[in-house]
Amino acid sequence: MSERILVVEDEPDIVEVVSYNLRQAGMAVEAAEDGESALEMAEQSQPNLIILDLMLPGIDGLEVCRLLKQRVSLRGIPVLMLTAKAEEVDRIVGLELGADDYVVKPFSPRELVLRVQKILSRTAKAPAEAEAPEDRITAGPLTIDPGGHHAFVDGQPLELTATEFKLLLTLVKRRGRVQSREELLNVVWGYQYPGYGRTVDTHIRRLREKLGEAHSLVETVRGVGYRFRRDLG
Ligand code: CA
Repeated sequence: MSERILVVEDEPDIVEVVSYNLRQAGMAVEAAEDGESALEMAEQSQPNLIILDLMLPGIDGLEVCRLLKQRVSLRGIPVLMLTAKAEEVDRIVGLELGADDYVVKPFSPRELVLRVQKILSRTAKAPAEAEAPEDRITAGPLTIDPGGHHAFVDGQPLELTATEFKLLLTLVKRRGRVQSREELLNVVWGYQYPGYGRTVDTHIRRLREKLGEAHSLVETVRGVGYRFRRDLG
């Protein structure tokens, strides 16, 4: 079964280049040219990933992202946003709305395919996990079920994106140890190069918001990175 990608973009040239490259990499591609039809297609076909352009006719990409993340049936689908360079602020906002990654236009199709593959590989369950489910991890009010990809605070389920879940799991497994932004980028996002520190900061901020009263479990170590508290009562 090939992975199914929904490309949401109104510029035919870009749709063509992106679709061609994804298909060359063995993926199945469908395209929507505006946000409303994208939401409909996503409901029907439940793609493995959505590539979402920021600039769309009608409802824009940010709003589409927000709507995707509001719907229980769609919020688990990872979103990679396409943005233009001038939209620096918007792309950060995009990440706060729940996008998993972004690529700035003009981009190389090869780079885009690599990003897609990285997101898919971290959202897919590893075969080893499926064979031997890891035990639940408990840290104070937090419980994590690594196999089921669920996390709970005081028994209440958290609604985390795949990236937020992996970030939390990584920090908890290394609790008590400071993780630099570069280490987290490498482990969680699969990036081998620095320069995306703000991506980590943005995801940490959103993770803390979702942790609610348990937010202080994730500590900032100024100038170094982040650490999950070890000294839990
Ligand atoms: Ca566009």
